[in-house]
Amino acid sequence: MAKTQQKVTVTFLGGVGEVGKNMTAIECAGDMIIVDCGVAFPKEDSPGMDAIIPDITYIKENIKKLRGVVLTHGHEDHIGAIPYYTDVLKNVPIYGTALTIGLLKRKLEKNAKKCNLNVIAAGDSVTLGNINVEFIKVVHSMGGACALSIKTKCGTVFVTGDFKMDNTPIDGKKTDVGRIAEIGAKGVLLMLGESTNVERKGSSTSEKVVGQSLENIFLANTKKRLIIACFASSNYRVQQVLTLAHKYNRKVVLAGKSMKAIVDVASACGELHVPKGVIVDSVGKLLPHETLVLATGSQGEPLSALKKMSKGEFNKINVGSDDVVVLSSSPIPGNEKSVYDVINDLFRKGADVIYDSMNDIHVSGHAYEEELKLMLTLVQPEYFMPVHGEYRHQFKHAQIAKAIGVNSKNIVIPNIGESFGVTSKGIRKHSNVQAGNMYVDGVVLEDGQSLVNDRLSLAEYGMLVVLAAVDLERGVIVGDVDVVARGFNLTEDVEKAIRLAVVEGVNGADLDKADIDEYARYVKKSVRKLFYRERQFPIIIPVIVKD
Ligand SMILES: [Zn+2]
Ligand SMILES: [Zn+2]
Repeated sequence: MAKTQQKVTVTFLGGVGEVGKNMTAIECAGDMIIVDCGVAFPKEDSPGMDAIIPDITYIKENIKKLRGVVLTHGHEDHIGAIPYYTDVLKNVPIYGTALTIGLLKRKLEKNAKKCNLNVIAAGDSVTLGNINVEFIKVVHSMGGACALSIKTKCGTVFVTGDFKMDNTPIDGKKTDVGRIAEIGAKGVLLMLGESTNVERKGSSTSEKVVGQSLENIFLANTKKRLIIACFASSNYRVQQVLTLAHKYNRKVVLAGKSMKAIVDVASACGELHVPKGVIVDSVGKLLPHETLVLATGSQGEPLSALKKMSKGEFNKINVGSDDVVVLSSSPIPGNEKSVYDVINDLFRKGADVIYDSMNDIHVSGHAYEEELKLMLTLVQPEYFMPVHGEYRHQFKHAQIAKAIGVNSKNIVIPNIGESFGVTSKGIRKHSNVQAGNMYVDGVVLEDGQSLVNDRLSLAEYGMLVVLAAVDLERGVIVGDVDVVARGFNLTEDVEKAIRLAVVEGVNGADLDKADIDEYARYVKKSVRKLFYRERQFPIIIPVIVKD
């Protein structure tokens, strides 16, 4: 057998060194599978973009080997990039639990027909070429989440997926520690472990605690209307709200498209049980104490229902002193300002707002340190790679693995684009593959990075348009040079210097070869040089016309 057939190759296309756009390729003996295919959400460093998705050049180059895509669960950072890659994946079977595939189908809309979508249940196995994937139940902030045991000829790769060890989950279905221990006892070559909450000591709190806190809010506010905002994808949270509303005789109005969608999708696949008659279409003539509004927007998202309510722009629901608003979430790092803006506006409108984690109105769906230790103890991997986290999370997770007894030589912190060959004899780093960010602004952009760079330059330094008429035969400027500035403080001196630079630029061009475009390039270069010295990088747009 050829040497290349005896190793498992793991290639990281996203989700390492970052939180978001998880995507990993796993190969053995000529067959490849993809684990997850998610998006990341743009922050200040990529203004105006809709989404960031993984560069999948490596997958396209190896498409002949691709036997399937397996999805751990239905969060955006695990399934969100698939709609952008339906052409690449159209003949490839995609596997996930009912809720995962249900949510994906909704995202794909009419493209769903193009895709080969397959529903499996936790406990099922699928064979993809010479690779066998077993889906194992884990608890997370949404239903249908699985860890994966990926059996290859050259050893087993165990992927934890996003998980926690909640012993009192809402639906009674716990993380299948028994099965994970069995798999561990049989021998796991490599484990990829999620690292999101590695910085949190102890163990995460059960989702059930949130139910108790919410019930206390119901009991303390019997005369007021309740508006509860949470992630639409948190079907357990939605379940608890619906159950409590039913118990306390409140009708529920769903506000926000994704909230309505999750209720439809999750109830259709048995991950949500809606008490009969509890959901109504609109507030209508209901009195405040008979009403509960379940809304999207717990992260202050600009177009969400709660944001619109805070601005008085949600047509049917006017927030005021009859309202108690509960943000059943904690701000994702980076979203703090948008969340607090919404909270400020809700208070301004006279509502009472309950929002901090001190009230136990939110728990995380990701394992804390002690749960990560337990997972490592159950799996007992020979090799370990921390994933699903920024570098500091991965670093701390690596330290934990060492403390648990994984040989430190067998622990690797992977980065995007890195590829490793793993055998029981050792781990070898291959050369990097093309990987990184692809930007989506309406469509997937060919060269999104330069657009992002332009937007950042515009925001920081502004824009200069220089206009000049050039006599192409003599290679000289005719008439005045005009300078128009936007977002740039144009003083008289600077304007003068720019005019001179434009003249120098035109003079620098080769008279015999230069056309309009050539002059524009020279002018741009010359003006740009002027600002280099000041470490300023305004966008420069030369407009050269033929005299
Ligand atoms: Zn997740
Ligand atoms: Zn995730």
